[in-house]
Amino acid sequence: MLHLLDLSPEQLQAWFADRDVPGYRAAQARRWLFEKRAAAFEDMTDLAQDLRGQLTETFVIWTARVAAHQKADDGTEKLLLELADGERVECVLLRDDKHRRTICISTQVGCAMGCVFCASGLDGVVRNLTTGEIVEQMLHLQRLLDPDERLSHIVVMGIGEPLGNLDRLLPALAVATRRDGLGISARRITISTVGMPEGIRRLARQDSPYHLAVSLHAPDDALRNELVPYNRKVGIGSILAAADEYFEATGRRVTFEYVLLGGVNDQAEHSRRLAAIVRGRPALVNLIPLNPVRGLPFHAPAAEAVVRFAEILQHAGLAVKVRYRKGERIDAACGQLRRRGSEPRIDAEKGGQAPSR
Ligand code: SAH
Repeated sequence: MLHLLDLSPEQLQAWFADRDVPGYRAAQARRWLFEKRAAAFEDMTDLAQDLRGQLTETFVIWTARVAAHQKADDGTEKLLLELADGERVECVLLRDDKHRRTICISTQVGCAMGCVFCASGLDGVVRNLTTGEIVEQMLHLQRLLDPDERLSHIVVMGIGEPLGNLDRLLPALAVATRRDGLGISARRITISTVGMPEGIRRLARQDSPYHLAVSLHAPDDALRNELVPYNRKVGIGSILAAADEYFEATGRRVTFEYVLLGGVNDQAEHSRRLAAIVRGRPALVNLIPLNPVRGLPFHAPAAEAVVRFAEILQHAGLAVKVRYRKGERIDAACGQLRRRGSEPRIDAEKGGQAPSR
């Protein structure tokens, strides 16, 4: 059986053409899937019965099973998906304001980057997700929406390093942005990277329509090498140079993410040094108070430290945002749910103590 979501629209079209079925039928099937949120070929009632039968015999739409579903009081919902090979990934739906419906998706099972404060990389990386598995997360999350809600934003900030799996991520994002896919504007899609200069430059060369976020977390290589071990291979200088290329090529302002770890990288001197290296760029600094992970020796920053850190950056003329927590009480520092031994309860009230970001 083939995973339908692994096929490009052109490949699906070709499959229909091989069976002498007119091309608009393929478009109809896609509309059922992405727009009308159909769960099975049988639901696609305006396709002929024998065509639906052939589709059912050839393709599967769903390869992952929802192993857990948590809901928080603020409307955040999180899914733990069990993939065909038994591996697990997480994805999240966030509800902001009246209309903003953001989904956060994973790109790999585990992560090889080893950031010391993050749950996703604690056991290393197992494998890349396929394009179909990435699209499937989008569809599982879309199915959580009420009929009058629409997905509006995507952040590629779940488990894994997106630039480590670009060949599969880009076709998945193309499905997300196509009018006959999910129809989400590319400008509302953010790819977050640990800072892989080569991948950033590749996106720049392709005149990437997506927003880029670079996880910096430290103002100098000595500290960054400790917090983000992958940095030893690249260094902040080459990451900033690649980010500058991205801006020059695409005209899109880059976001620098900075997770604040209490007492580790949240002092005034860190903020001043960060301002010094980022200054002069049309950048946004996104401050993320740590969402503590059980078993790791880091804690959230004091509220005053966050305010002071932000003020110093603002005085230096930088645009700053503090990312507030969402999904309070559903286990959600990404990667935590996946690592729990047994299946967590569906009841969010008794979920983990770690709030999500
Ligand atoms: N590999 C990509 C995407 C990972 S997750 C990257 O490094 O950017 C997206 C963001 O969440 C990253 O900035 C990551 O450092 C941050 N993050 C990871 N664990 C966190 C935690 N426990 N609390 C707050 N932010 C965290």
